[in-house]
Amino acid sequence: MHETSSANSNVDQAELAKFGALAARWWDPNSEFKPLHDINPLRLAWIDKHAGLAGKRVIDIGCGGGILAESMARRGADVTGIDLSEKPLNVAKLHLLESGQHVEYQLIAAEEIAKQQPESFDCVTCMEMLEHVPDPLSTVRAAATLAKPGGWIFFSTLNRNPKSFLFAIIGAEYVLNLLPKGTHEYRRFITPAELAAMARDADLTVTEFIGMTYNPFSKIYALNEDVSVNYIVACRKPA
Ligand code: SAH
Repeated sequence: MHETSSANSNVDQAELAKFGALAARWWDPNSEFKPLHDINPLRLAWIDKHAGLAGKRVIDIGCGGGILAESMARRGADVTGIDLSEKPLNVAKLHLLESGQHVEYQLIAAEEIAKQQPESFDCVTCMEMLEHVPDPLSTVRAAATLAKPGGWIFFSTLNRNPKSFLFAIIGAEYVLNLLPKGTHEYRRFITPAELAAMARDADLTVTEFIGMTYNPFSKIYALNEDVSVNYIVACRKPA
């Protein structure tokens, strides 16, 4: 796939187009976004347990149609959601009319808003997005800049190993048809060690890793110690 990142923007237009094409179905819990709907209560609870969302300023990087962003607002956070794909953001904005929640959605790069609003957020979330950008370290650094000293930063992504290839690509895209074919590119997957190195490079302290697993037989999603396919890392910016 062609990378069309321009001078200083860490973005792959082909990746944005994939999400744009599906945007209308973002809030359909039985659509291509079913995995995000199913995992959301689990990741939300885990983030809330660490960061204590009520009353906090939160920014969600790569928010898409707003599944996580809106759920954090519902927990009483003051949420900004950013993405570079216009259609998902429009869907996110429209969904606020239905839910009655308030989220500030903006079409802006993480690197750009980090310049405008450094050290402004108690909590930064960036879920299932790093594996779609050309330069994930640049996104991790932007997330670190956005966080206040003492703030929490959460990333989730896909691990890179034969099992994740089998589960996340062959299983999810070809066997179970959970995701459209071509949703993920194996070479962009990130191991926990690589993500921890990026976090340290951005002067963050890595606090905890947790795995997100899907059992195709029981159809049950769970958080547990198995980080071999999909995982979240919690980091802190030193106070
Ligand atoms: N974080 C959301 C959506 C994940 S889908 C959730 O977990 O529920 C991945 C999202 O990343 C899409 O909305 C896509 O448009 C966005 N994205 C991809 N590249 C991006 C970039 N360079 N900057 C901002 N958002 C990006």
